Amino acid sequence: MAERTIPAPPMNPEVQPFFDAAKQGKLLVKRCAACGEFHHYPRAICPFCGSDRTEWKEASGRGVIYSWSVLRRANPPYALAYVTLAEGPTMMTNIVDCDLDKIRIGQNVKVVFKPTDGGPPVPTFTPA
Ligand SMILES: [Zn+2]
Repeated sequence: MAERTIPAPPMNPEVQPFFDAAKQGKLLVKRCAACGEFHHYPRAICPFCGSDRTEWKEASGRGVIYSWSVLRRANPPYALAYVTLAEGPTMMTNIVDCDLDKIRIGQNVKVVFKPTDGGPPVPTFTPA
């Protein structure tokens, strides 16, 4: 089956380090040094306590499928999902390199970076 062409993600200074790391195959999440909470999508200001003391941490790349949907009318069909990372935050992503009919809530997944159309690679997930 043909690989889906993933559109390039929108870029801004808040997310630049995230995609620079993605080019090296590293998944980063932001953690607040004031309250200790992890969050995603990356923000300069902590969404939990408003502190600007947010810092980048390398994530394990492991997670669990929280919810998913297969877009069967797309060509080729693909799976859009929310994956809850081992570190806590939930991210919107794609489930790739697997039988789309075998995806399950609670399934263990691991990060795999996929190229985009003219942009940096993006983190997607595959069954672990
Ligand atoms: Zn905080």
